[in-house]
Amino acid sequence: MINQKKIEKAIKEILVAIGEDPKREGLKDTPKRVARMYGELFSGLHKDPAKELTVFHEEDHEEMVMVKEIPFYSMCEHHLVPFAGKAHVVYIPTKGKVTGLSKLVRVVEGFARRPQVQERLTSQIADCLMKQLKPQGVMVIIEAEHLCMSMRGVKKPGAVTTTSAVRGIFQKNAKTRSEALALIK
Ligand SMILES: [Zn+2]
Repeated sequence: MINQKKIEKAIKEILVAIGEDPKREGLKDTPKRVARMYGELFSGLHKDPAKELTVFHEEDHEEMVMVKEIPFYSMCEHHLVPFAGKAHVVYIPTKGKVTGLSKLVRVVEGFARRPQVQERLTSQIADCLMKQLKPQGVMVIIEAEHLCMSMRGVKKPGAVTTTSAVRGIFQKNAKTRSEALALIK
């Protein structure tokens, strides 16, 4: 579990280490606030997003199901600053095995609320869907801005990084893949 007391102590030490006074008015409650916030931002570490994915049966539906622009916020594990953007999830069910829109949103959130890198976030979502729904294929595309790049001026602010994870039929069949891509664009 997340130890908020330990986070509090650590944040206080960081403040001292950068030459701040953790006792001054504006900062005195900061360690506590950060600890509470981290508790929320990293809550995904202690949950199994697969459990969110309830399967419904919709008779013999074997057409593409797509949920575009699922907003998410995550934390870059290299710098502990946010990266945020949108996830697009596409899958083709097997024999009508589908899941609800809100379930997909929770899976994205569950994996996002951990120290993350965008590539892993993308494939974890795809693999979770493959495992739970056993669909014919899954494609996940994530577009995100990384504050560790924007804030430090390595890249232009607003620069968007795109990653994709392709599984099953989307991997084998170029036509199906480009059909999905066309729908996302
Ligand atoms: Zn980073």
